[in-house]
Amino acid sequence: EVDVCQAPAVRSDSAAKSKDYLKSAENMGFVFEKKLRVWCWLREAGWQLGDIQSLSGKHAKILLCDGNVLTFCVDSLLPANPDILDGIYDLIQLSYLNEPAILHSLKCRYTADVIYTKAGPLLIALNPFKKVHLYENSHVGAYRHKSAGDPHVYTVADAAFSEMMRDAKNQSIIISYQFDGILTYELHDSGESGSGKTETAKIAMQYLAAIWGGKEMQNKINQTNHILEAFGNAKTLRNDNSSRFGKLVDIQFTSSGRICGTKIQTFLLEKSRVVQRPKGERSYHIFYQLCAGAPPHLRDKLNLKAASEYEYLNQSDCLSVSHVDDAQMFQILMKALNILQIYKEDQENAFAMLAVVLWLGNVKFQLMENENHVRVVPGEGVMSAAKLMGCEVHELMLALSTRTIQAGNENTVQKLTLQQAIHTRDALAKMIYASLFDWLIEQVNISFEASKRSTGRCISILDIYGFESFHNNCLEQFCINYANERLQQHFIRHLLKLEQEEYAQDGIDWSNIDFMDNTECLNLFEKKPLGLLSLLDEESNFPNATDLTFANKIHQHLSSNPCFKGEKDRAFRIHHYAGEVLYDTCGFLEKNRDTLYSDAIQLMSCSCQLLQSFAFRLLHHYESLSSAQWLNGADLRKHGVGTKFKVQMFRLVQRLENTTPHFIRCIKPNTKKLPGMFEDDCVMDQLRCCVLEVLRIFRYGFLLEDFYMEDPLSASVAILRQFNILPEMYQIGYTKLFFHSGQIAALENARKNTI
Ligand code: ADP
Ligand code: MG
Repeated sequence: EVDVCQAPAVRSDSAAKSKDYLKSAENMGFVFEKKLRVWCWLREAGWQLGDIQSLSGKHAKILLCDGNVLTFCVDSLLPANPDILDGIYDLIQLSYLNEPAILHSLKCRYTADVIYTKAGPLLIALNPFKKVHLYENSHVGAYRHKSAGDPHVYTVADAAFSEMMRDAKNQSIIISYQFDGILTYELHDSGESGSGKTETAKIAMQYLAAIWGGKEMQNKINQTNHILEAFGNAKTLRNDNSSRFGKLVDIQFTSSGRICGTKIQTFLLEKSRVVQRPKGERSYHIFYQLCAGAPPHLRDKLNLKAASEYEYLNQSDCLSVSHVDDAQMFQILMKALNILQIYKEDQENAFAMLAVVLWLGNVKFQLMENENHVRVVPGEGVMSAAKLMGCEVHELMLALSTRTIQAGNENTVQKLTLQQAIHTRDALAKMIYASLFDWLIEQVNISFEASKRSTGRCISILDIYGFESFHNNCLEQFCINYANERLQQHFIRHLLKLEQEEYAQDGIDWSNIDFMDNTECLNLFEKKPLGLLSLLDEESNFPNATDLTFANKIHQHLSSNPCFKGEKDRAFRIHHYAGEVLYDTCGFLEKNRDTLYSDAIQLMSCSCQLLQSFAFRLLHHYESLSSAQWLNGADLRKHGVGTKFKVQMFRLVQRLENTTPHFIRCIKPNTKKLPGMFEDDCVMDQLRCCVLEVLRIFRYGFLLEDFYMEDPLSASVAILRQFNILPEMYQIGYTKLFFHSGQIAALENARKNTI
């Protein structure tokens, strides 16, 4: 009788799946022997390293690192890599690619503040949650033409540049994040991950600017980040500086390889944050910066008060961010606006719009006696807002408390209920802020335009929200997750399909293995007329439709799709590539319609110049969208937020398809935002459905090695024969040698024994 330790407990379905394939790929032909280093699973301590002391039948006695000797069933053991591979820079090079081996490798590096690791063609970036000494001036430049041996964002940016010049082809650096281990961890109903995407994008931009931009260009590029962050970032519960929009930044080069400009495109700004958000979070940084840092003349002009005086700001019980001085940040922002040559007058007009939003939040309504409708209480809120908007107070009051309804040729005026009035006020505030954000991005783009000479190629850097799944998932998550499905397909296409093609080209006997294909899920969203987005638009156009009728409709039409499952009442479930998400259709129709209140637009058209231009853009936005080919000139007035976003995503992917992509995956080593803390489960969850997939393809059967010798192939084969590596353990391609997994360890053992 022996006391045998239990095999690892399976934590979840996907955990079991990923472990299975890595293990089976791994254990092909593996024999446990005495003295071998192995991984053993201990319920209390997780994976532990040990050496096999003795074997008898199915049981192995293992000497663990802590000196204990325990008996394990050999089926529960996993082979460990030779210690020369500890902390190797590319996971692909591990002889044994099992879960503990991958975690061990990343952990070894992370503990030494080496946050970047390669996984074949992917760069993994672990968030250090502290300052690491990887970006000093001495480092910039040191990465020029550096081999992959030292993974870094700089190496990726450098490779992108070199390939752009070599192949005369545009490049992209796609920075993404798997998803929060939200399906396993309790998280709050808001926001982005804090995995390091935006920081990584910034580091890439700064590097490119430092090497290939002149001093002035470098300065301008770095300053744009201050502007983007002030207007597009906010403190959330998980990230003090969370970007609330997606962005694609093109760094444009002349044909001789100097930076001549940048162009920014943004996606899906979270405008609801301006009027509402969870407790403990803030609205956009700029509001607090303005209140804290505006100079006296501006304060007077805008009738500016402290942040605590504004309803839109004080509602969430959070006015400051620790270690951040908003007044000082305002000075930094002003400097950035000046360096980007945004006119002083435009700057002040933009600040006035911010004040309009703040004052709108202070507009109060009063229920009319014995009536169901409201009037605006004349007060500081509505007076200041109207003054800054450049319209009459009574006009604004009317626009906030009534609605003009067109019926045939007749216009009738309907008085609003309290709820409708608040809704109208908030919609106006959101519309102004979102327009201001777009306008500002345009000003930044124009500023680069001015200094532009002839454009050659570009490197596009994409920083877009990761997968989201919260307790309550609404249209925002629906869109974000759809975007992730689209980008995932792009990722799969490029990495996995291309790699298989490489094997085939080199004449390797390769029976294609299945990888996660998300076409079915994309169909669920995109199919016409019976896809989620089409049905959503259709229902949004029915005057009497409700979220419940929408839910019923999709239950009825989409239940045959394996990725879809109708749930009780208004809910439905989608099986995304990253996991299942439960959506609640509550608010879907309203948010999708994103009604342009004609009264508000009308009001803006007769207000100050900036508001007039906002109104003009809002109306013309539709026209530019409907010229898109794939819509066949269809009238986009009937299309909602979802479909417009789909068009944006199509355009984005289309652009990315014409580039050579470089992928960076950001990973959060723990959920507590703490430095020096590496949580195995947390990391594994994030590696699971993408990084592992890539490793599996790149390492499933054979490992690819480049040799730099004159006739490298025959020389290498000779070496293998010399060391008695069995012919079935490798295949010889036309130009490369492909190893069966585990052969590096065999060679390493042979090397050690000959010394
Ligand atoms: P995301 O865009 O994925 O939500 P961020 O890029 O905003 O995440 O990163 C969140 C925080 O993590 C940053 O504010 C910063 O404190 C920290 N961080 C991320 N990457 C790095 C890095 N390379 N070095 C130091 N700190 C980092
Ligand atoms: Mg971000």
